[in-house]
Amino acid sequence: MSHRPLPRRAVSFDLPGDRLRQVTDACVAFALRQVETIDAQPSWDHDGVGPIAASFREPPPEDGQPIEALLSRLETAVAKSLNSAGPGYLAYIPGGGLYPAALGDYLALTANRYVGLSAPAPALAQIEHTVLDWLRRMVGFPDGAQGILTSGGSLSNLTAIITARRTRLPENFLSGILYLSEESHHSVAKAALLAGFPEGNLRALPVDERFRMRPDDLERAIRDDRRRSLTPFLVIANAGTTNTGAVDPIPAIADLCARERLWLHVDGAYGGFFRLAPGGERLLPGIERADSLTLDPHKGLFLPYGTGCLLVRDAEALREAHGSRAGYLQDLHEAGSLVSFADISPELSREFRGLRLWLPLKLFGVAAFRDNLREKLELARWAWEELRRAPGFECLDEPQLSVVPFRYVPKSGDADAFNARLMQAVHARRRVFLSSTTLRGRYVLRLCILSFRTHGDRVAMAIEDLIDCARELDSEGASRR
Ligand SMILES: *Cc1c(COP(=O)(O)O)cnc(C)c1O
Repeated sequence: MSHRPLPRRAVSFDLPGDRLRQVTDACVAFALRQVETIDAQPSWDHDGVGPIAASFREPPPEDGQPIEALLSRLETAVAKSLNSAGPGYLAYIPGGGLYPAALGDYLALTANRYVGLSAPAPALAQIEHTVLDWLRRMVGFPDGAQGILTSGGSLSNLTAIITARRTRLPENFLSGILYLSEESHHSVAKAALLAGFPEGNLRALPVDERFRMRPDDLERAIRDDRRRSLTPFLVIANAGTTNTGAVDPIPAIADLCARERLWLHVDGAYGGFFRLAPGGERLLPGIERADSLTLDPHKGLFLPYGTGCLLVRDAEALREAHGSRAGYLQDLHEAGSLVSFADISPELSREFRGLRLWLPLKLFGVAAFRDNLREKLELARWAWEELRRAPGFECLDEPQLSVVPFRYVPKSGDADAFNARLMQAVHARRRVFLSSTTLRGRYVLRLCILSFRTHGDRVAMAIEDLIDCARELDSEGASRR
């Protein structure tokens, strides 16, 4: 029997053995150089980054290039950045990025098995379910809750709002009202808008002197909205605000939600994992009473960016909010098998995310995470004590978690402008990197201590640089007058 000729075989993407090893070794060397020098790298470096960024504007290469040349370009691009993985990064919300998580991703992407549905790789799907169960236990959330891993807190908040909407409101949901606080993260309002709510349906309530939601204001707002025939359905409380680490009075809010039959979502993207630290139940009481809880392992579990989590108390609500079936997947839905992530989340195909958590948690053990969270809380308290005692500095709140909001009050002149200059002067030393925010209409600096690479020596450098720079700037201001 004669065959027609077969189509010409394409260029192979499977590298031959020696090339495979060479490319891999080059990448490993690159990665190890990063890990081993992170502590010594400056806290930031944007010198000459413009032309470097511009050099990456280029057409797609028609032919392949050697790995060494590519890595050396990449190394320059990495260097010209805020060192958000380094010990001096005290800005926004640091995370650090545990190296074994990168190895977990490497292994997961190399095996490239399918975990969107559980039937194709049941043991791998089980690993991810187990990781979610560990996260649930770490923060004391009730047994029977269902979790998903997301790319971050923003997507967790979006999924929570949509789940609450689909569970508590009719198909036409436009009378539904959501309650949050003025200190809620902007991803909450963004998620509500993406979930289809008009801006007018959001109630951003004022906060108390420690930046926490006031249950009496919440109760009043709910009553007013009911009187106007609107439909209160969701309260979003903070377990650690991004600005100051404020923890809303969740037990009182949970009581109110139970009485009023409202869904309680707790945004613990920054603060949730502090529940694992010694004294965590005292720091974050009541989060176990939430209907849904956002956690960000890429913050409080020190993982690399791209790791968020949502826990939902009523597993069935998550499934019903996301349930849809495709005929072409009919072979893959086995009765009685583990719940499929595609049936309880917005995604279908995605990477095997569970391994980036499983590997570091197994390698280090939970006790190591608990101890690191303890250290961060103690460092924040130490920094607060130092700043409180430093002449001219004023702290806006005692740390509720690991954020210290503060400002310097100059002898004269505009305090907001002074603090902006102070931050620049501290950054110019390149040992630490801070960020600012606006609180009660004032420009405020903040230290957020959450990287596993940040220890006492670096926090002491931050205090030293702040005190030195403030003294220099304040005396310059005085001598100009
Ligand atoms: C960081 C943060 C978010 C957003 O999470 P991403 O992971 O950046 O998407 C939401 N809420 C709070 C309180 C946060 O700190």
